[in-house]
Amino acid sequence: MTTPRLAFAAPDIVTLPIRGSGARFPIRRIFCVGRNYHAHAIEMGRPVDKSTTRPFYFLKDASATVESGATIPYPPGTQDYQYEMELVVAIGAHGFRLTEDDAERMVFGYCCGLDMTRRDLQMLARETGRPWDLGKDFEQSAVFTGIVPKGRPGVLDGGEIRLQVNGRTMQRSSLDKLIWSIPELLADLSGFYHLQPGDLIMTGTPEGVGPVWPGDHLSGHIDAVGDIELHIGAPT
Ligand code: MN
Repeated sequence: MTTPRLAFAAPDIVTLPIRGSGARFPIRRIFCVGRNYHAHAIEMGRPVDKSTTRPFYFLKDASATVESGATIPYPPGTQDYQYEMELVVAIGAHGFRLTEDDAERMVFGYCCGLDMTRRDLQMLARETGRPWDLGKDFEQSAVFTGIVPKGRPGVLDGGEIRLQVNGRTMQRSSLDKLIWSIPELLADLSGFYHLQPGDLIMTGTPEGVGPVWPGDHLSGHIDAVGDIELHIGAPT
């Protein structure tokens, strides 16, 4: 196949380092799960009854990716820029219409993620029945650490997740409080999409979300996964 002649430079492939490997993980899509911890669903004014609802999703573009440790500008168009600390599942196989038993072979590894959110725009969208993109899918809104290859067992179902802002703990929960577990999420999501290597799934944030401002320093941790850092700079 001949390489097409491009009118301008194609976008870069977005990648994350892989711990213990010289190779990098190329990101394909970033799926995000909404309201996947009960206490967070309640703080957002939308409690979840798992017996009558299914998970829901939104996406962020791979180009929104920022690596842990960066300083990013306070984003435009918001006065309520918020953090959401999340476990991220990195997919390493093809999968469609999976069962929960398929989860083990689908997982490549994990990383820590920050689902940075323009909360005022998300809420306006929610109240007016509009898409969430302006609130969720914007430049530098997806912050990730390097990928930690899965261990044994390959499907995480416990461990602490926490976030500090300027040294003060704002979020602290446990992965066993996920409303929909990793196997349940993979089975559900793969009913709508052909999952592919390079896909990332942000599994949702626990309670304690809140605003950040220029000069703030965010520091998060997930047991057996790692630590994430982010500095908020002045608006551009
Ligand atoms: Mn989130």
